[in-house]
Amino acid sequence: MAKGNIGVTSANIFPVIKKFLYSDHEIFLRELVSNAVDATQKLKTLTSVGEYKGELGDLTVRVSVDKKKGTLTISDRGIGMTAEEIEKYINQIAFSGAEEFLEKYKDDASAIIGHFGLGFYSSFMVSKKVEIFTQSFTEGSTAQHWSCKGDPEYTLEDTIKADRGTDIVLHIDDDNKDFLEETKIQELLTKYCKFLPIEIAFGKKKEWKDGKNVETDQDNIINNTNPAWTRKPADLKDEDYAAFYRELNPMGEDPLFHIHLNVDYPFNLTGILYFPKIKNNIDMQRNKIQLYCNQVYVTDHVENIVPEYLTLLHGVIDSPDIPLNVSRSYLQSDSNVKKISSHITKKVADRLAEIFKADRTAFEEKWDNLKVFIQYGMLSDEKFYERGEKFALLKNVDGKYFTFEEYKTLVGENQKDKNGDVIYLYANNSDEQYSYIQHAKDKGYDVLIMDGQLDVHVVSQLEQKFEKTRFVRVDSDVIEKIIQKDDTEKVSLTDNQRDALVTVFDSQIPAIEKTNFIVTFEHLAPTANPVFVTQNEFMRRMKEMSALQGGMMSFYGEMPDSYNLVVNTAHPVIEKLLADEEAACGPAVTPFVDELALAESKKAVLKENQKGKKDEEIPAEEKEQVEKLEKQIQELTDNKKAVLKSFANDNKQVRQLIDLALLANNMLKGEALANFVKRSVELL
Ligand code: ADP
Repeated sequence: MAKGNIGVTSANIFPVIKKFLYSDHEIFLRELVSNAVDATQKLKTLTSVGEYKGELGDLTVRVSVDKKKGTLTISDRGIGMTAEEIEKYINQIAFSGAEEFLEKYKDDASAIIGHFGLGFYSSFMVSKKVEIFTQSFTEGSTAQHWSCKGDPEYTLEDTIKADRGTDIVLHIDDDNKDFLEETKIQELLTKYCKFLPIEIAFGKKKEWKDGKNVETDQDNIINNTNPAWTRKPADLKDEDYAAFYRELNPMGEDPLFHIHLNVDYPFNLTGILYFPKIKNNIDMQRNKIQLYCNQVYVTDHVENIVPEYLTLLHGVIDSPDIPLNVSRSYLQSDSNVKKISSHITKKVADRLAEIFKADRTAFEEKWDNLKVFIQYGMLSDEKFYERGEKFALLKNVDGKYFTFEEYKTLVGENQKDKNGDVIYLYANNSDEQYSYIQHAKDKGYDVLIMDGQLDVHVVSQLEQKFEKTRFVRVDSDVIEKIIQKDDTEKVSLTDNQRDALVTVFDSQIPAIEKTNFIVTFEHLAPTANPVFVTQNEFMRRMKEMSALQGGMMSFYGEMPDSYNLVVNTAHPVIEKLLADEEAACGPAVTPFVDELALAESKKAVLKENQKGKKDEEIPAEEKEQVEKLEKQIQELTDNKKAVLKSFANDNKQVRQLIDLALLANNMLKGEALANFVKRSVELL
């Protein structure tokens, strides 16, 4: 029997393994099974080149647990190792610059393991003793038994082993007993080994028989050795892609379509990505891309490898060229990773462009489910914007789709205002904004529907991208003002008439929580609505942005919603209302108005007098006079308003007009709505 010390040049490796590699303990299984698979594939290669002429036989890699003995065994029928090979590959561990590296990556077990080629030694993370029983395929070699208890000492002796290949026997230590649980091992094998190229068996398949779960004589095979991404696209049908998607996402809804990645220069990359139907909550969809390295599962966190918006895709990427064993920050700066990322981006965009070109109808059908993804990409990646420009769509309220170019052609002239700006009208709820949409349509304008999660941002982006173009929501003003063709007619009210109408309407607006109204006037067509509600585009967008972002913008978020109650002075009903008001309130209001004018002018004279004087230079008597006048003005104003209010209170038409405007804007609710219905019946 040979005895020796494992060749570690710098530090003692075992405490290092135990001490630092606590977080990712479970990856030892991945390392050992991959070694077994590698050894098996090497033998297959040797057979195919004629260097091994023996029977290959059953090549299944077998994993088994013996709870009584406290062991976990990984067995393969691969090439095995001779005594010299054990000496070379197992006993001598290249281990230089260790301390420095370990300090840097102490929380990143896979980095450490990869760096030192410590795959096999990761078994000591969970074992108090590890044994190797191995029989090399080479003729005349003797089977070997290596054993080590987690210190630099090992023993190596000849043994007898019936079968070619290697058994790695782990004596699981007391802290890691869960690795002796069948369910745990089944779970880990499924996670890491699901697509390894050699069959992995873990025990026997079970079956329900007479109410009991009993073992059959069939191997419980963990993996699909020939996953779709490793096959040629030409050999695969749509059903195969769909079936593979279900293998990855048994619960998932069918995807929209797939992209098969297949690159061998300047890096190796294969994979299949699927476009899922993207639902409202974007974040729910992440982390559905699995990264593999030669069919060995590595991670489902690919955010350092593909741009963020691509993490919305589902599927698999497999590349031996992604350096798996380095820190995350390093990954982002790695040139291969950058190339891979831009390649995937390009492929995704190409595929979208291809589908758009080949079958526009199908593309349009999928658009609503795709758009968040495409918009997300265009918002976050300038390159993707440039590609997406050609296939991204705008949808109008009638459900028609347009490319950016097509839409520009459609509205470019017709919706140009007097300043030469093209106005893109949009709605975000075609039911609630129905009447505004209708008005715009009556004018011969087109209205887009922008009701997606990202549309607020898209609107801002497109305004920056498109020249002399503004997006205005269709209910943000009267259509004549949104797209102002020429100077609209001036409102011809006197100050007194204006004041009177403001009071008349203002006094009748029902109280709505966190909502303000400002009464304004427009001289529109007599056929336009007499009264309607609009919301300023700028303020509304600020509020929308703040809702999405919070933080700095929350100032806007806390402000009440401010609407305009627009009164159309050209409408006959308003003209009549004004005449009625003047007839009814004139006798009572005129004296107040006259007195007000007098008081105002007296105050003005006094104020003029005081201009440029310091406070102490103004006689107390004069100050008193001003104060008295101000009080009088307030009283007169209150009196005047009281008259007008009482007129408005008694005039059902005013409430009716306001309620109709609110109703058209979906803002008439609860009691106010009930009152409206009651009043409408009375008016009939
Ligand atoms: P790596 O796999 O990264 O080379 P490991 O420490 O996992 O590092 O393994 C070291 C070497 O030991 C392997 O390269 C291989 O030559 C040998 N080896 C490990 N496991 C087996 C096995 N099951 N059968 C044959 N050789 C093996």
